[in-house]
Amino acid sequence: MGEHLRKDTNSRKADKVMQGDTAESLTPQRRVVLEVIRKSQAHPTASEVFDGARAMLPSISYATVYNSLRFLRDAGLVREITFGNGSSRYDGILERHDHAICEKCGHMVDFSLPETAALKTKAAQKSHFKPLAVHLTLVGLCPDCKTE
Ligand code: ZN
Ligand code: MN
Repeated sequence: MGEHLRKDTNSRKADKVMQGDTAESLTPQRRVVLEVIRKSQAHPTASEVFDGARAMLPSISYATVYNSLRFLRDAGLVREITFGNGSSRYDGILERHDHAICEKCGHMVDFSLPETAALKTKAAQKSHFKPLAVHLTLVGLCPDCKTE
């Protein structure tokens, strides 16, 4: 299960977007999509973002939400977490952090492990990549599911 890591060009693009009076420079649709992601701590999927956006803006279409997600991701305003099976979730927290995801119910939580950052050098040596970021995703069973 790999997380798709965005290049640091995104943070420069984000700066540019943010300079235009932050979210004011976004279309109303993009602003709503951004708000849904920032307010959620559940790392919503595209269809969950659509449900949240439609509650605020009933006329919004799935295609618009989908395009807005791509725009916000490319602008570095949200982080897309991709999984091997092609599914994605969206995170409004841009600071480096790690995740744990429940294999049974999909519950996903944030945590931060300083050791993860220290693994960056070793991972770079093994892969011969220039390191930009390392994120850890723990796959397991959440507290609710492990007691069932
Ligand atoms: Zn669970
Ligand atoms: Mn997160």
